This record gives sequence, structure tokens and C-alpha cells, in this order.
Amino acid sequence: MTVSVATLGFPRIGLRRELKFALESYWAGKTTLAELQTAAAGLRALGWARQKALGADILPSNDFSLYDHVLDTSALIGAVPARYDWSGETINPDLYFAMARGVQGNEKARDAGHAACGHAHDTTAQEMTKWFDTNYHFMVPELTAGQTFKVASTKIFDEFEEAKALGYVTRPVLLGPVSYLMLAKGKAVEPLALLPGLLDTYAEILARLAKAGAEWVQIDEPCLVLDLTAEQRTAFERAYARLATRGPKLMLTTYFGGLGDNLDLVADLPVHGLHLDLVRAPDQLEPALAKLQPHVLLSLGVIDGRNIWRANLPDLYWRLKELAGKRDLILAPSCSLLHTPVDLALETGLAPEIAQWLAFAVQKIEELAALAKALNEGEDASFAAFSASRIAAVARQTSPRIHNPAVASRLASLDESATHRAAPFTSRRTAQQKRLALPAYPTTTIGSFPQTPEVRKARAAHIKGEIDDAAYDQYLRVETRAAVKWQEEIGLDVLVHGEFERNDMVQYFGEQLAGFAFTRAGWVQSYGSRCVRPPILYGDVSRPEPMTVAWWRYAQDQTDKPMKGMLTGPVTILNWSFVRDDQPRETSCRQIALAIRDEVQDLEAAGAAIIQIDEAALREGLPLRRSEWQHYLDWAVECFRITASGVRDDTQIHTHMCYSEFNGIIRAIGAMDADVISIETARSQMELLDAFASYSYPNEIGPGVYDIHSPRIPAKREMTDLLMLAAKHVPADQIWVNPDCGLKTRKWDEVRPALVAMVAAAKSMRARALAKEAYLAK
Ligand code: GLN
Ligand code: ZN
Repeated sequence: MTVSVATLGFPRIGLRRELKFALESYWAGKTTLAELQTAAAGLRALGWARQKALGADILPSNDFSLYDHVLDTSALIGAVPARYDWSGETINPDLYFAMARGVQGNEKARDAGHAACGHAHDTTAQEMTKWFDTNYHFMVPELTAGQTFKVASTKIFDEFEEAKALGYVTRPVLLGPVSYLMLAKGKAVEPLALLPGLLDTYAEILARLAKAGAEWVQIDEPCLVLDLTAEQRTAFERAYARLATRGPKLMLTTYFGGLGDNLDLVADLPVHGLHLDLVRAPDQLEPALAKLQPHVLLSLGVIDGRNIWRANLPDLYWRLKELAGKRDLILAPSCSLLHTPVDLALETGLAPEIAQWLAFAVQKIEELAALAKALNEGEDASFAAFSASRIAAVARQTSPRIHNPAVASRLASLDESATHRAAPFTSRRTAQQKRLALPAYPTTTIGSFPQTPEVRKARAAHIKGEIDDAAYDQYLRVETRAAVKWQEEIGLDVLVHGEFERNDMVQYFGEQLAGFAFTRAGWVQSYGSRCVRPPILYGDVSRPEPMTVAWWRYAQDQTDKPMKGMLTGPVTILNWSFVRDDQPRETSCRQIALAIRDEVQDLEAAGAAIIQIDEAALREGLPLRRSEWQHYLDWAVECFRITASGVRDDTQIHTHMCYSEFNGIIRAIGAMDADVISIETARSQMELLDAFASYSYPNEIGPGVYDIHSPRIPAKREMTDLLMLAAKHVPADQIWVNPDCGLKTRKWDEVRPALVAMVAAAKSMRARALAKEAYLAK
């Protein structure tokens, strides 16, 4: 029996984000297409050589992408929406990038798109959304009734040949037809209805790969870990009855969860191999073994492809030893390594003790190789790797850097009263109205003002040591003061300090909390050429000292208007970080909640009457399976409430969420019990207020009236129209007037006229309300 190693996919962005720079210089017209293609081919060659040298036996191809693998699939099967006016045989790079980024003229809008909101908007690019529960975004396929498919890109064949020429017979990666359709958006068609036509094209692709010499194809069907309808199940049966019986052998690859109730379905599919995610769902191995035919080649995802922790190799060895004696196995990461940074070796700035606990893509392949070697040749064959792994695991279990007894005991002694405000909303509201004396339709913004090139330059210069702390601080003060004065001038009611001092809404807090570490080069692709560097939450979280009070105080000192305290909530900090795997996520989240609660109380003590706690990522953290939603929502809401509940009745708590789908979670939103919530609604014409209306959302609400994702400056009239629409959904005295989201990605030239018009819109709503009152009094 042999054990071999596969990687399922390697980070495509490159060790030093070479792909990002190659793409951006091509888009900027500074380099040619040939230069971009040379750079891309170089990255692929390096990736294969690296994986091979690290000990991978089965190398992927077509895991590389110039933008996104779902977009590649659309190109492969010729699914081009009509607005691109495509009539050719193949899809050229211009068209490909147009589908990704919109055509010239709209590129600006696209680049300013706000990844944090889960999608960026452009009238001409395809829509983008999050890939399952990762922070990677894919381009949503757009299909229409009568859609036909044909092989329209040779990328998958070319890359197979390219690898072959370098001496590697790869296992091409192909997104499966059913997951592709399930991720698509249909216009006048239910995408799954297009399956028969799509299968013809897939059959052709597979046949061509077989002819080129591919023995296996990795066919990814991550949707098999979701709740499936009867129709979707049938689609899987049809698809694989057709595709698995001819052509190359199929390694049906599932990840991001367990098969659960889909196991029977999968066990009956006539595929030659099956990959299981044993990190998210370790318990699925037993039942799978009981159900699967003995000839099915099992690929076990035993190394975490979604996180950065080093594995405990001796433990894994003992878990797998018996099985490896009975059947051939492939060992793999739980999912593609796309979601991990490339190489820990670049992290020279991490404390060595912390670095010792980590493994990035390169290290994960080494782990798989060591494990396979031990299973093939005996434990001693990997003696050195196993000892180092064991030492790191023990160190991590006991390190005082991780375990802070004070945090644990504080959490343990947290009583129920810490999770709710002292008084119900109605009495808080009276107290807050008295303290704040705001007009009807109060105006505010979501927090950030434009992060101009100058702001970024100053920050970069400060990091490089070109300007000292005092100079940087002075620069930020000038920016902040100007922003406050300007808000006062245009007549906003509740002001913000502008967040000029913040690099990122999560990183800013992570850097000031104990328990977080930051990498130098731990980049992970977010979308296209964009990468993020998630903080690493490695230990018990506490807050050594106040994080935002000084800036809040400075800003408040400039004005008599209320200045909002501005914080990122615990669920968002958690969801946008690499988090601990040695305790439940909810425990980590509660720890962060306590730290933010302290900050809320310090802001209140400093005099803040209004404190906003952003939970931008609360919804996107929803588990993939419905049955797990409630548990997640329970602890997520509780964590928010822990942060928000330590204040007086007359302190007003705001929250902000930037996504557009509240159905199914509106109860949880209500349970957060924020005094005011601001949400994104401008583009949906207030439609999503329906959820708030039918639930009779009791607290105050700021439906965004200015779509900050677009450079367009909305007219006053548009915003009054939206406000009147909003007033049809929720009582007028509950409505706030604000943009959709923070303004950091916009330019001052756009923000200034837009907010002036927004204030004017609010004033005309007030005048209207007064006139109505007067009329009714007559
Ligand atoms: N307060 C943050 C800002 O204004 C919120 C950002 C967000 O919701 N993504 O930028
Ligand atoms: Zn937002």
C-alpha cells in the first residue's frame, strides 16, 4: 500500500506578490501582455518546482489564475454575458479582464470597490462575492435562458502541456459542473436547468485532457458540503453518471466541511477518487469508509488549508497508520493552499516562539511529505520532522504567551448581566434623546474619511522611520481637525474623527491587543490582484491600554457636536483573522468582546455619548450549513452584547453592517439591541428594509442613502426619494441619514458634494415632517 502527497492547489500570487505587480503594471499599460504572460509562466514553473522539491507527488495544474478560477471556468465553457458583445471562438485577455474588472472608464470605480463589504460594484464587471466562508472573492457566473456552452479557452490544456514540457504530468484542477451552476446567477433561468448542455462541454474538456495524457483530473465540488435540495442531488447524479464513466479518472474533491447527509449520494457516484476535508470534519472518515467502495482512492485532507498552524504530525501518524496499511491513500491539505500565505521563511519579524507554531503553504507540503514518508517507511523515517512537530505542539499547549489565567477567570466569572443593557430600548431612548437633543432625521457618516495618497504616504513614511512619531502624529491631527471642522461647517449632526490613523479596521485593533501577531509577507489573495494580510490570533486576548480614546478626545475637543467613538466589533475581528484552533471560535470571540467592552467603557468615561461598534463581517461568518446558523448567531450576538452592555442608558450604541441580505437573520440583528444600526441599502432601493419592516424592528436605523461603492455623486433629490421610501418601511422617527459605508475608498472631491447633498436631503425631510405636523394640527 502506498501513501502519496497532493496539494490541491498552490498560492498563485507568488512568494512576494509577483503576480499582483505583474497584473497591475499590465493594467496600467506599463507592460505588455507578453510580459504578463512570461511572468505568469515563471510563477507556475516555480510553483511546480517548489511543490515537487518539497515532496508533493501529485501536482495540480490550472490552479493558477490571472484573476479567479471561477472566471476561468466561465471562460473555459464560453459563458460570457451578452453585454460584452462576444461572438468570437475564444476569449482573449481583454475580454477576460473586462469580465473581471469592467471595461475602461469604469476601472476607477472598480478599483475603489470595497472588498471588506463582500463585493465590489461596477455596472459592467461581473458581480463578485465570497467563495464559501473564505475571504476570497470569485466572479459570479451570469447565465441566461437558452445559454449554450462551448470550449472557449485553452488555458487548462495549455497549462497541462506547459507542465508536461517541464517534466511534470499534472492533475488538472477543474471546478465541477454542479458547483459551477450552483454558484451562478441565472437570468430568466434556473442555472441547474442548463446542466445537460454544460455536461456536453465538460465531457469534451475531459476527453481532451485524457488525450493530452492526463490520467486523473481533480474535479472540485465544494457544494457537496452544503445543504442540498432534491434537485441539486439529482444534478450530481446526472453529472457524474455522464462524466465519470469515460475520460480521465476523477478525483471528486470536497472541502470546507463534511459531506454529512450527502454521503450516501457521493458514495453512489461512479468516481474513481474522493477527497474529504478531515480538518473541518474529522468525524466523516469512519462513515465514509463504511460506505465507499473499496476501489475508490481516498484523498484525506489532514493538514489545515484554511489556517496557519503547524500540525501535530505524530498524532496524525497514529490516526492514519492502520488505514494506510489497508489501502492506498493520498494525503493532502483540507482544501487548496490558495487560502494560506506562501512561506513562513519570510517572517523574520515574528517572535521565534510564535513562528515555531506556524506553517504556511510551503511548510504544509513539507508536513504532508514527512507524514507520507513515515506511513510508507515507518515512523523513524521522519524522525526529525516528527520530533520538531511534537516539541512545537507541546510548547504551544503550555506557553505563557498563549495562556493568560486572568483572561480565563474573567470569562468564567462573566455573569448574565454583562450581556444586556440595564434598561430596555424605550427607556434608553428617552434618556438618549434628552442627552443628545438631535433633530429628526439625524445625519452622520460611518466613520472613515478618504484615505488619500497623502495619508497613505505619511503612514508608509512613518513605518519606514522616515518621519518620527511626533511628525506623524502632527500630520494626523491636522487631517483630523480639518475633517471635524468641515463636518461642522456642512451641518452634520453626529461627527466622526475620520479614522486617518487606522491602516485597517481589524489590524488597527489587533496591533494594540495582546494575543495577536502580524506577518510581514503573509499575504493571501482576496480578489484579483488584491491581497490581505490577516492578523494571527494566537493567544488569550486582553487590552493592555485604551486604544482609541486619545484620538476620540482630540476630535471631540474640536467641536461641541457629539463625536462618535469608533470601534470594530469582536465578530468582525475574529472573522477577518487567522484564529486559534486550540479552543472554540466562540471562546476567542468572547475574549475579544471583553477587550472591546473595556474600550467602550473607557470611551464613555472620557465623555463619549455615542459609540459605534462595527460588525461588518457578522453575516458573512454564517456557517455553510443552516443547522449550524443558530448556534453561531447566538454566540456572535452575545459577543456583541458583551461589548455594548457595560454603558449607561443615555450612552447611545451604534452598529454598522455593510451587506445587503438580512432575511433569515433579522431576529439576531434585533437581538443585538444596538440603539442605532446603519446598513447598506442605497443600491437595493430600500428593498432590504422589508426584513426590518416585517419584523417590526424596534430600534433606530440608518438605511444608507449614498452608495459609496461608486464614484457617482448622488443628487439631493435621489436621497430624499430614498428617505421617503424608507419612511414607508419604518417609522420616520426611527430613521437616521447616512452613507452606505465608510468613505475611505472615495476621494474628497466626491465626498464633499455628496455629503452636502445628503445633509440638504435630511433637512428637507425635516421640513416636510414639520409641515405635515402643522397641517395635522389644523
Ligand atoms: N467604520 C468603518 C469605516 O467607516 C467601517 C468599515 C466597514 O464597514 N467595512 O470605514
Ligand atoms: Zn460598511
